[in-house]
Amino acid sequence: MAEQNFPTGDLMKGKRGLIMGVANKNSIAWAIARQLAAQGAEIAFTYQGEALLRRVKPLAESIGSDILVECDVTDDATMDNTFATLKDKWGKIDFLVHAIAFAGKDQLAGSFVDNTTREGFKSALDISAFSFVDAARRASEIMNDGGAMVTLTYLGSERVVPNYNVMGVAKAALEACTRYIAADLGPRSIRVNAISAGPIKTLAAAGIGSGRHMFKFNKAASAMQDNTDPMGVAGAALYLLSDLGLSCTGETHHVDGGFHAIGMPQEGPLREAME
Ligand code: NAD
Repeated sequence: MAEQNFPTGDLMKGKRGLIMGVANKNSIAWAIARQLAAQGAEIAFTYQGEALLRRVKPLAESIGSDILVECDVTDDATMDNTFATLKDKWGKIDFLVHAIAFAGKDQLAGSFVDNTTREGFKSALDISAFSFVDAARRASEIMNDGGAMVTLTYLGSERVVPNYNVMGVAKAALEACTRYIAADLGPRSIRVNAISAGPIKTLAAAGIGSGRHMFKFNKAASAMQDNTDPMGVAGAALYLLSDLGLSCTGETHHVDGGFHAIGMPQEGPLREAME
């Protein structure tokens, strides 16, 4: 991500929360963290294993955060420890950001029907969809005065995107989970939404076959004829996680330069991009 200045203010002042899914400075979760911190939020982070701590620690420190907990969402003990740590340090939290997905590389290329295995399917759905249900339940237990949650999804849930394959199915499940969680937690004033971001160059995106084609095509075919800026995704997260988002829940909000709205792209830019 290019060096950018996130709008400062007090929209998150007095709010504390957990961000799950920062791997490095290009992570969407990191753009969200910077935007929330610029608006006064106090943030705790999880990281997936020692190797990533090296990258996540200096980032967290740069925004004054000293709560970093190792967490693999497939490991109940680390999930228990994450939320126990937050309860211990803060007593309660106000927001949760879930920016976690995984599917094996062999599941993200070629024919969906031929290449999707039982194990690949289970693990993609477990890590990319169930983990939000699990984290949301645990987070809600320490949200005493209402709260807000956001997860990250992609259009491959609604339409076929080459090579996205089982991850598209996992994202469809994640969006449905968002609505069910929103209904369960709504009476407690906890809002739960998903952001459907356009393609952004991150570690996770690099795992998808035909990545370069995806960026070119999105740029040419979106309403704005541009790629998605992580800052726009972070701005949407700020809206949904702050009191600005009052009454908004169970929503999947697209931040993709209007790509999702286009039925038939303009011929000129598309032809140029494809040449
Ligand atoms: P990223 O690689 O920076 O982040 C993915 C994160 O998932 C990493 O921090 C990784 O450690 C974590 N993760 C994977 N398996 C885990 C596990 N078992 N336990 C704990 N953490 C685990 O990539 P990103 O693109 O910032 O991805 C964040 C979210 O945004 C994902 O849900 C992704 O599907 C979604 N998304 C990405 C794009 C894009 O184009 N990059 C577009 C739309 C949605």
